Amino acid sequence: MRCIARDENILGLVCVTTNLVNEARELHSTYPTATAGLGRALTGGLLMGALLYKGQRIALKFEGNGPLKKIIVEAEGDGTVKGYVVNPEVDLPPKNGKLDVAAAVGNEGFLTVMKDLRLKEPYMGVVKLYSGEIAEDLAFYLAESEQVPSAVGLGVFVEPDWNVSAAGGFLIQSLPPANEEIIDDMVRRIEKMPPVTELLRNGKTPEDLMQQIFGKIPYQILAKKPVSFRCSCSRERIEQALISLGTEEIDSIIAEKRDIDVSCHFCCKKYVFGKVELERLLKEIQ
Ligand code: ZN
Repeated sequence: MRCIARDENILGLVCVTTNLVNEARELHSTYPTATAGLGRALTGGLLMGALLYKGQRIALKFEGNGPLKKIIVEAEGDGTVKGYVVNPEVDLPPKNGKLDVAAAVGNEGFLTVMKDLRLKEPYMGVVKLYSGEIAEDLAFYLAESEQVPSAVGLGVFVEPDWNVSAAGGFLIQSLPPANEEIIDDMVRRIEKMPPVTELLRNGKTPEDLMQQIFGKIPYQILAKKPVSFRCSCSRERIEQALISLGTEEIDSIIAEKRDIDVSCHFCCKKYVFGKVELERLLKEIQ
């Protein structure tokens, strides 16, 4: 859901991603801490993607010194997102009653943001990881690299049976000229707010969340739309990747008389190539 407080130049985005994060958990067989890390990153990606125009794309890479190694997320302006974590089998002891995503990501490393704005060159921004909690890292990136003061909140609640019962987040941006007083007031309110997942588990809607964030500031709902996990991989794209291995590599696979399995990182879909197809690819190269 997208809102704007016109008089104060504040943009607000809220999203609920419970089903989407569950889908990602099932696709990638993630353990609880990895589920929370990937879920927060997917939700953050969607919110960042909502700042783009249709046809534009954004990719986020969280690369820290923790056991998750890397989280990669790609989102588009149309409300779709995909992502994966290099090591999905991460389950750490909780910290202060919450899943310890910061320890899983690591406290040292980088957040890389790449945007395909349909210009000649993609835009790329790199910042150090702020805390490894994902939301704070995105807020730090937006303030530091894009000079837009922003508040980001992300949450994923994983049940003892590993199912995700609530996931969602918000992104609030102050556009120039900023009204410092209003922003301070808003930040105080956000800091006092219960976690997003607690609100969602208590049956709160995106409208309720927006109301909590904006308080008495008048705002207008601009749009509401569905979000989904979507991968754009296809047999043709995987073929291109195989072709890029070169003739020698493909020749040796054929010589070993084995089929080759190629899995998509983002959705885990498996593509199998047998001898006949590999020979056809070889011909295409030649
Ligand atoms: Zn895929």
